[in-house]
Amino acid sequence: MKLSEFIRPDSLAAARKALRELGPKGMVLAGGTALHFMQGKTPVTAVDITGLGLSYIKQKGDFFVIGAATPLSDIQRYRGPRWAMHEICRRISTHQIRNVSTIGGNIARVFPWADLPVVLLAMDARMVVYSGKEKEIPADEYFASQPARLFRGGDLLTAVKIPVLKAHHGFGSVKATRNAAAFSLATIAALLELKDGVIKSARVAAGSAIPFPQRLKPVEAALVGKEASTETFKAAAAASAAAAKWVGGEGMSADYVRQLAEVSIFDALERAAEFARGRAE
Ligand SMILES: Cc1cc2nc3c(=O)[nH]c(=O)nc-3n(C[C@H](O)[C@H](O)[C@H](O)COP(=O)(O)OP(=O)(O)OC[C@H]3O[C@@H](n4cnc5c(N)ncnc54)[C@H](O)[C@@H]3O)c2cc1C
Repeated sequence: MKLSEFIRPDSLAAARKALRELGPKGMVLAGGTALHFMQGKTPVTAVDITGLGLSYIKQKGDFFVIGAATPLSDIQRYRGPRWAMHEICRRISTHQIRNVSTIGGNIARVFPWADLPVVLLAMDARMVVYSGKEKEIPADEYFASQPARLFRGGDLLTAVKIPVLKAHHGFGSVKATRNAAAFSLATIAALLELKDGVIKSARVAAGSAIPFPQRLKPVEAALVGKEASTETFKAAAAASAAAAKWVGGEGMSADYVRQLAEVSIFDALERAAEFARGRAE
């Protein structure tokens, strides 16, 4: 994607107005790291949203609220009660990329290797979209298909709200890569709610090894009501075969990817259970 001009609006309303006027000749610019991956030979005007006060992380009631223009490195460094987002952020690309790449840019246009959609699906996050006024969209609806569909009319993602994990909740994520900074081969995230050692509820999501990030409903169904044990996690991970269409690539067969996902699901569930029991790092 080539840029011909920059606009730095001083308010959300001015940014939306500019985007509406520009139509297909304009685009939102946050960290700009995705320009490299985006097709399009006709130069466009970039509407830079990094000066709009959208870079922050704060706890507000039962949610952590992360501004859409917050760099991944800030999310990696932040610590709050039962905070779990740093785990995946430290696994995304390199320090240089994380310093500029924003949470909003990662989830406004989802690339096949994007890790945050997987984590936000498992965490049951809510996305805040500005269209003159702000509205919240639950993760299941937001990630039902390419979120870029929501922003074509000049609307903007302004924040992501993540529920603060309760004492009996546990979260775990696993990103399988060929080397430290490589794109993901399979990303898995799991949120478990335990009561007296039994799984009350589960949200398990996957990405990278499938066409688009999604929840793994058969895996979740194999967990709920069962004891949080190694046997349960193994059986639930085995349900991954029927849970999604696993896709091969980069020299790996679809069957290899499915097995990689199964092992990663098991690891993510073990980590989530450890977290819930209060024994995680
Ligand atoms: C070499 C490299 C390796 C990478 N590896 C990984 C990886 O392993 N895992 C991973 O998850 N990510 C990875 N990334 C990052 C990812 O691919 C994207 O580049 C990044 O998340 C985009 O964030 P940004 O802030 O730079 O967004 P930008 O590039 O500024 O924008 C990306 C898209 O989102 C739109 N947009 C941005 N913000 C908003 C908003 N608030 N509202 C509406 N639309 C908006 C833009 O118009 C554009 O379409 C990698 C990037 C690079 C360059």
